[in-house]
Amino acid sequence: MFIEPRVSRESHGHRRGWIEVICGSMFSGKTEELIRRLNRAKIARQKIEIFKPGIDKRYHEIDVVSHNENSIRSTPIDFAQDMLLLGGSCDVVGIDEAQFFDEGLAEVCVKLANSGVRVIAAGLDMDYLGKPFGPMPALMSVAEYVTKVHAICVVCGDIATYSFRSVTAESQVLLGETESYEARCRHCFLEGQKAKK
Ligand SMILES: [Zn+2]
Repeated sequence: MFIEPRVSRESHGHRRGWIEVICGSMFSGKTEELIRRLNRAKIARQKIEIFKPGIDKRYHEIDVVSHNENSIRSTPIDFAQDMLLLGGSCDVVGIDEAQFFDEGLAEVCVKLANSGVRVIAAGLDMDYLGKPFGPMPALMSVAEYVTKVHAICVVCGDIATYSFRSVTAESQVLLGETESYEARCRHCFLEGQKAKK
Protein backbone atom coordinates (compact mmCIF):
# COMPACT_ATOMS: atom_id res chain seq x y z
CA MET A 1 0.00 0.00 0.00
CA PHE A 2 1.14 3.51 -0.76
CA ILE A 3 2.18 5.53 2.30
CA GLU A 4 2.53 9.26 1.78
CA PRO A 5 6.08 10.63 2.11
CA ARG A 6 4.43 13.25 4.30
CA VAL A 7 0.92 14.56 4.73
CA SER A 8 1.56 17.84 6.47
CA ARG A 9 2.76 20.13 3.75
CA GLU A 10 5.34 22.29 5.46
CA SER A 11 9.00 21.42 5.36
CA HIS A 12 11.72 23.89 6.39
CA GLY A 13 9.16 26.67 6.07
CA HIS A 14 8.21 25.79 2.48
CA ARG A 15 5.25 24.02 1.01
CA ARG A 16 6.60 20.98 -0.81
CA GLY A 17 4.82 19.74 -3.91
CA TRP A 18 5.09 16.48 -5.79
CA ILE A 19 3.18 14.30 -8.27
CA GLU A 20 1.63 10.89 -7.65
CA VAL A 21 0.08 8.79 -10.42
CA ILE A 22 -2.31 5.90 -9.83
CA CYS A 23 -2.72 3.92 -13.05
CA GLY A 24 -4.10 0.61 -14.24
CA SER A 25 -6.88 -0.97 -16.26
CA MET A 26 -10.59 -0.65 -15.71
CA PHE A 27 -11.87 -2.33 -12.52
CA SER A 28 -8.43 -2.06 -10.91
CA GLY A 29 -9.52 0.26 -8.09
CA LYS A 30 -7.77 3.45 -9.27
CA THR A 31 -10.52 5.80 -8.16
CA GLU A 32 -10.93 4.01 -4.82
CA GLU A 33 -7.21 4.48 -4.21
CA LEU A 34 -7.45 8.16 -5.21
CA ILE A 35 -10.34 8.64 -2.77
CA ARG A 36 -8.45 6.82 -0.01
CA ARG A 37 -5.49 9.19 -0.35
CA LEU A 38 -7.70 12.27 -0.56
CA ASN A 39 -9.66 11.25 2.52
CA ARG A 40 -6.40 10.96 4.48
CA ALA A 41 -5.39 14.43 3.32
CA LYS A 42 -8.79 15.71 4.44
CA ILE A 43 -8.28 14.25 7.90
CA ALA A 44 -4.99 16.13 8.01
CA ARG A 45 -7.04 19.30 7.31
CA GLN A 46 -5.52 19.82 3.90
CA LYS A 47 -7.33 22.00 1.41
CA ILE A 48 -8.20 19.68 -1.46
CA GLU A 49 -9.79 20.13 -4.86
CA ILE A 50 -10.71 17.35 -7.28
CA PHE A 51 -10.95 17.72 -11.02
CA LYS A 52 -12.17 15.47 -13.75
CA PRO A 53 -12.49 16.03 -17.49
CA GLY A 54 -15.78 17.56 -18.61
CA ILE A 55 -16.10 14.66 -21.03
CA ASP A 56 -16.79 12.24 -18.16
CA LYS A 57 -20.51 12.79 -17.57
CA ARG A 58 -21.10 9.21 -16.68
CA TYR A 59 -22.48 9.78 -13.22
CA HIS A 60 -23.14 12.99 -11.31
CA GLU A 61 -21.79 16.26 -12.65
CA ILE A 62 -19.86 17.11 -9.52
CA ASP A 63 -18.87 13.81 -8.01
CA VAL A 64 -15.89 11.61 -8.57
CA VAL A 65 -17.80 8.39 -8.33
CA SER A 66 -16.07 5.11 -8.14
CA HIS A 67 -17.71 1.78 -8.80
CA ASN A 68 -18.35 1.17 -5.11
CA GLU A 69 -20.16 4.51 -4.77
CA ASN A 70 -17.61 5.89 -2.35
CA SER A 71 -17.53 9.40 -3.78
CA ILE A 72 -16.04 12.85 -3.30
CA ARG A 73 -17.24 16.08 -4.87
CA SER A 74 -15.31 17.09 -7.95
CA THR A 75 -15.25 19.88 -10.49
CA PRO A 76 -15.53 19.03 -14.20
CA ILE A 77 -13.19 21.11 -16.37
CA ASP A 78 -12.54 21.15 -20.11
CA PHE A 79 -8.81 21.92 -20.23
CA ALA A 80 -5.94 20.81 -18.01
CA GLN A 81 -4.88 24.45 -17.95
CA ASP A 82 -8.00 25.33 -15.93
CA MET A 83 -6.49 23.56 -12.92
CA LEU A 84 -3.84 26.27 -12.54
CA LEU A 85 -6.44 28.89 -11.71
CA LEU A 86 -8.78 26.67 -9.74
CA GLY A 87 -6.27 24.49 -7.91
CA GLY A 88 -3.34 26.81 -7.29
CA SER A 89 -4.38 27.70 -3.76
CA CYS A 90 -4.92 24.09 -2.66
CA ASP A 91 -2.67 21.80 -0.67
CA VAL A 92 -3.74 18.77 -2.66
CA VAL A 93 -5.17 18.51 -6.19
CA GLY A 94 -6.81 15.21 -7.13
CA ILE A 95 -7.45 14.31 -10.77
CA ASP A 96 -9.74 11.49 -11.84
CA GLU A 97 -9.95 9.98 -15.35
CA ALA A 98 -6.68 11.76 -16.14
CA GLN A 99 -6.33 9.89 -19.45
CA PHE A 100 -9.12 12.00 -20.98
CA PHE A 101 -7.30 15.30 -20.45
CA ASP A 102 -5.34 17.03 -23.19
CA GLU A 103 -1.59 16.67 -23.73
CA GLY A 104 -1.00 19.77 -21.59
CA LEU A 105 -1.76 17.77 -18.44
CA ALA A 106 1.82 16.84 -17.50
CA GLU A 107 3.01 20.43 -17.82
CA VAL A 108 0.13 21.68 -15.69
CA CYS A 109 0.84 19.09 -12.99
CA VAL A 110 4.52 20.07 -12.98
CA LYS A 111 3.59 23.72 -12.51
CA LEU A 112 1.27 22.87 -9.63
CA ALA A 113 3.87 20.65 -7.96
CA ASN A 114 6.58 23.28 -8.44
CA SER A 115 4.39 25.79 -6.67
CA GLY A 116 3.99 23.48 -3.67
CA VAL A 117 0.85 21.50 -4.51
CA ARG A 118 0.63 17.75 -3.99
CA VAL A 119 -0.94 16.35 -7.19
CA ILE A 120 -2.57 12.92 -7.22
CA ALA A 121 -3.76 11.78 -10.66
CA ALA A 122 -5.65 8.56 -11.38
CA GLY A 123 -6.18 7.26 -14.91
CA LEU A 124 -6.12 4.42 -17.39
CA ASP A 125 -2.57 3.78 -18.55
CA MET A 126 -3.74 1.87 -21.66
CA ASP A 127 -6.70 2.17 -23.99
CA TYR A 128 -8.83 -0.75 -25.19
CA LEU A 129 -6.18 -1.65 -27.78
CA GLY A 130 -3.44 -1.86 -25.16
CA LYS A 131 -1.84 1.42 -26.34
CA PRO A 132 -0.60 4.14 -23.94
CA PHE A 133 -3.52 6.44 -23.22
CA GLY A 134 -3.37 10.19 -23.99
CA PRO A 135 -1.31 12.26 -21.55
CA MET A 136 -0.64 9.35 -19.14
CA PRO A 137 2.85 8.34 -20.38
CA ALA A 138 4.15 11.92 -20.07
CA LEU A 139 2.52 12.33 -16.69
CA MET A 140 4.05 9.10 -15.37
CA SER A 141 7.48 10.31 -16.50
CA VAL A 142 7.38 13.49 -14.46
CA ALA A 143 5.76 11.93 -11.36
CA GLU A 144 7.70 11.16 -8.18
CA TYR A 145 5.47 8.17 -7.40
CA VAL A 146 3.70 5.83 -9.80
CA THR A 147 1.41 3.14 -8.45
CA LYS A 148 0.07 0.57 -10.89
CA VAL A 149 -2.99 -1.16 -9.52
CA HIS A 150 -4.23 -4.41 -11.01
CA ALA A 151 -7.60 -5.94 -11.68
CA ILE A 152 -8.40 -9.64 -11.90
CA CYS A 153 -8.82 -11.31 -15.30
CA VAL A 154 -12.47 -12.31 -15.67
CA VAL A 155 -11.48 -15.19 -17.95
CA CYS A 156 -8.72 -16.97 -16.01
CA GLY A 157 -8.40 -15.25 -12.63
CA ASP A 158 -4.83 -14.08 -13.18
CA ILE A 159 -3.65 -10.50 -12.56
CA ALA A 160 -5.19 -8.22 -15.22
CA THR A 161 -3.64 -5.11 -16.77
CA TYR A 162 -5.76 -4.74 -19.91
CA SER A 163 -9.23 -3.25 -20.50
CA PHE A 164 -10.72 -5.55 -23.10
CA ARG A 165 -13.61 -4.11 -25.07
CA SER A 166 -16.17 -6.84 -25.50
CA VAL A 167 -18.22 -4.90 -28.07
CA THR A 168 -17.14 -3.68 -31.50
CA ALA A 169 -16.57 0.09 -31.55
CA GLU A 170 -13.71 2.06 -32.99
CA SER A 171 -13.68 5.14 -30.77
CA GLN A 172 -10.91 5.38 -28.12
CA VAL A 173 -13.43 7.02 -25.82
CA LEU A 174 -16.46 4.90 -25.06
CA LEU A 175 -17.97 6.37 -21.95
CA GLY A 176 -20.39 5.08 -19.42
CA GLU A 177 -20.23 1.59 -20.76
CA THR A 178 -18.44 -0.36 -18.10
CA GLU A 179 -20.46 -3.39 -19.17
CA SER A 180 -18.69 -3.15 -22.54
CA TYR A 181 -15.33 -3.86 -20.93
CA GLU A 182 -13.61 -6.71 -19.17
CA ALA A 183 -10.42 -6.73 -17.18
CA ARG A 184 -8.10 -9.25 -18.78
CA CYS A 185 -4.54 -10.54 -18.36
CA ARG A 186 -2.11 -10.28 -21.27
CA HIS A 187 -2.83 -13.78 -22.51
CA CYS A 188 -6.62 -13.53 -22.42
CA PHE A 189 -6.49 -10.01 -23.89
CA LEU A 190 -4.52 -11.30 -26.89
CA GLU A 191 -6.84 -14.26 -27.32
CA GLY A 192 -9.83 -11.92 -27.26
CA GLN A 193 -8.29 -9.56 -29.82
CA LYS A 194 -7.54 -12.51 -32.13
CA ALA A 195 -11.11 -13.76 -31.85
CA LYS A 196 -12.40 -10.35 -32.98
CA LYS A 197 -10.59 -10.55 -36.31
ZN1 LIG B 1 -6.57 -14.24 -18.17
